[in-house]
Amino acid sequence: MDIEEFRRRGKEIVDAIADYHMTLPQRRPWTDVRPGYLSELLPDSAPELPESWDDIRKDFDRAIIPGLPQVTVNPHFHGFFPIGFSFPSALGEMLSEGLGCVQFTWNSAPACSELETLVMDWLGKALNLPRAFLSKDDEGKPQSGAGVIQGTATEALLVAVLAARKRAAFKLREKRRDLSEQQAAGKLIAYASEYVHTAFQKCCMIAGVRCRTLPTDDDFSLRGESLKSAIEEDIQAGLTPFFVCATLGTTGFCSFDNLVEIGPLCQEYDAWLHIDAAYAGSAFICPEFRHYAEGWEFSDSFNFNAHKMLLTSIGCSCMWVKNRKAITEGLNSGETPTYSGPSEEKPDKVIDHPLWQVPLGTKFRSLKLWIVLRYYGISGLQKNIRQTVELARKLQSYITGDERFRIAAKPHLGLVCFQLKGEDELNRKLFARLNELGKLLIGCADVRGKFALRFSVNAAQTAESDLQFAWGVIRDAAEEILKAHEEHSPN
Ligand code: PLP
Repeated sequence: MDIEEFRRRGKEIVDAIADYHMTLPQRRPWTDVRPGYLSELLPDSAPELPESWDDIRKDFDRAIIPGLPQVTVNPHFHGFFPIGFSFPSALGEMLSEGLGCVQFTWNSAPACSELETLVMDWLGKALNLPRAFLSKDDEGKPQSGAGVIQGTATEALLVAVLAARKRAAFKLREKRRDLSEQQAAGKLIAYASEYVHTAFQKCCMIAGVRCRTLPTDDDFSLRGESLKSAIEEDIQAGLTPFFVCATLGTTGFCSFDNLVEIGPLCQEYDAWLHIDAAYAGSAFICPEFRHYAEGWEFSDSFNFNAHKMLLTSIGCSCMWVKNRKAITEGLNSGETPTYSGPSEEKPDKVIDHPLWQVPLGTKFRSLKLWIVLRYYGISGLQKNIRQTVELARKLQSYITGDERFRIAAKPHLGLVCFQLKGEDELNRKLFARLNELGKLLIGCADVRGKFALRFSVNAAQTAESDLQFAWGVIRDAAEEILKAHEEHSPN
């Protein structure tokens, strides 16, 4: 493709994207294609000869589009936590891809590297993160903290576990010289609430360390008492507690672990405290939601996905650490990639982000975030969060105003879990019926063994009218289910 064709085709693609967005409300939020559908539509090997752009485009519309549920952009999708999207973010991605940017070490792309540090400081200040997480102190002097953009919250968690593992294994081996690093790691144990994302177990498995999930209180919050008794028990059993993953905004019901209690315990037992705020973290740009983060100053690392509520597309998971050396050491295999080119700058003067993430080369991840922050301003991003919360409150009022329903878990931010009063089976049937109708998509949650419906509001795509539409569909489906239930009940 030459430059002139690229110019022409590029404009067509932007038009096609805009048309797609204009027709979204009429499209079903979920796809009904069957597994393997694509192999019936596309050949099973790559073409020997070049094909025309027009043919590729036709196949994209015919075969690819039908297999793409619109989870990020459809106003009737309420299934997952929001997966961010905005046109400024999409333009940022286009620029990054279009310029062929790639980020290795600082000298491979100084703008990528420095913009990432700058944007993470901007965002850290907007969240009012503890100052120690920023790359500079109040006088502008470099300090040991800083932010990095990881691809996902799971990657951020893995990096934190690896850093903590290295630190703890080192300390353990100072006391127990007979242990190899591997043997020392085998004695470490990590903790999280029973409602932690499964990413926690996955990361501990990859890092080769034990992990344990702990009971929570009535608000699904991990409390100090629960953590302390597990730690004491494990120390008695000869293990070394080394890591706690506290969640701010659990996936099931958006509950919040109690950092004020957990934080001092982590200090007392010298355990790394990582905060997974994948969903809820965006909300901390609004001062009125920062109470949820009380105690975050105790943490060693903090992470949230800007690609959830901050209007930024996927692949933008923001992580801050207080001591970035712990991270680079945690990921240091002792081998330096030889193709990264010479750097005349001292490592403490520049931040080599690839040294604190799993991949070496990444996309220019900060560009779209920088564009989003500038295009919307903090006030624009706050507006999106506030609208999300406002819509969730409206939904709560619909639910509590209908005596057939109840709230299943205390709602926070944009997540509302609710149930039809009565047997579990009624809620399963309601969920199945909603899926069958396909007019909207909501999720489900297990609330202490009871089936609940889980509705996630995403104000970037949902207006009040969409919420009313959704509630109308849910209410009508519930009426149908309850009527059928009454007709079949013995009395
Ligand atoms: N942590 C929490 C609380 C989440 O809700 C999620 C996903 O929604 C994750 C972690 C995993 O996120 P990622 O897909 O970015 O790894």
